[in-house]
Amino acid sequence: MELWRKQLQQLSAANLLRTLRTVDGAQDTRITLGDREVLLLCSNNYLGLANHPLLVEAGCRALQDYGAGSGGSRLISGSMRLHADLEDRLAAFKHTEAALLFNSGYAANTGILQALLGPDDVIFSDQLNHASIIDGCRLSRARTLVFPHGDVEALERMMVAEQVRRKGLWLMVTDGVFSMDGDLAPLPELVRLKERFDCLLMVDDAHGTGVLGETGRGTAEYLDCLPQIDIHMGTLGKALGGFGAFVAGSRPLVDLLINRARSFIFSTSLPPAVAATALVALDLVAGAEGRALRESLHANRVRFLQSLKSAGLQVMEQSTPIIPILTGEPAATMAASARLLEEGFFVQGIRPPTVPEGCCRLRATVMATHRAEELKQAAVRIAAAVRSDVC
Ligand SMILES: *Cc1c(COP(=O)(O)O)cnc(C)c1O
Repeated sequence: MELWRKQLQQLSAANLLRTLRTVDGAQDTRITLGDREVLLLCSNNYLGLANHPLLVEAGCRALQDYGAGSGGSRLISGSMRLHADLEDRLAAFKHTEAALLFNSGYAANTGILQALLGPDDVIFSDQLNHASIIDGCRLSRARTLVFPHGDVEALERMMVAEQVRRKGLWLMVTDGVFSMDGDLAPLPELVRLKERFDCLLMVDDAHGTGVLGETGRGTAEYLDCLPQIDIHMGTLGKALGGFGAFVAGSRPLVDLLINRARSFIFSTSLPPAVAATALVALDLVAGAEGRALRESLHANRVRFLQSLKSAGLQVMEQSTPIIPILTGEPAATMAASARLLEEGFFVQGIRPPTVPEGCCRLRATVMATHRAEELKQAAVRIAAAVRSDVC
């Protein structure tokens, strides 16, 4: 189609064209891209579990015992023993009454918000929330009020103003860890607002699950408010190394989602082997190995930040393994990313609409399994690539 070609040309001219890069072999700290081995610095596989031998073994065993596919949606014939076991395990992980699997974080957020809210209701949504939350707000047809990122005072003012015309349910929704900035939601303050205004609180902890908190239970554990969250959403495809997502909360919440969430109802359930790997991943994360992996993740994060700073870069310092290096405009960002790739370091450039205009960045992430020396070298090269392209 001529029209499509034209749209692609426009994207390309604005340095906003996206293309796929194919990884050969398994996900690890070093991966093969085309003809070259590169150090991977932009994966969400924070703990290195994606290729962990115990996950692989559990997946193989489940394939043998339960076959490749589930053959149906959960409400028809596709609700298998491993799904039920994993849901029990996830509820225990978040200390809630119940949990429900979704096929992805995207499907979870769109399904949860669509199912729970309608035109009489109000959603208060952080400005930097993930795209799947934004799409869920749209699907719900609730009145959506976007508050400035992390700004509790502004949110409070919006709630006071909104109070006079209140009709239905109110829900605040926020990422636990913001995926592009790596900072945390002010959960304790949001809990205070939730209590004052009789409002539900939903936390999308895609990047916190497995990474933050004493036992890897996520941002709410780290900020000491796990029991105060009404709706925990988390994913199995990032630190947990597999695929899929879940919601954890009260029994009525889960039962209502089973009845109303369209992305849950009208979709084939996860393959049983996927559930089997997640069960093993949760045991690892909550146990001694998880603790050790989180410690090396933390040490690597501190080490990498220090190296970037001593190489002269200004970085946003966060308490998560997400380390954004701001580069400004798309052309400079993609040039820096391409140069780094040439040198054997894979750091993806992030452009609008994923981040606001003028806020392009190299979004570096560290893994627990990176070696100290690799991170040091990477920091020096990143600094050189960013400086030469910015100036
Ligand atoms: C990755 C991500 C999702 C989507 O999860 P998938 O399982 O990859 O679909 C949702 N929310 C946030 C904050 C994320 O970072």
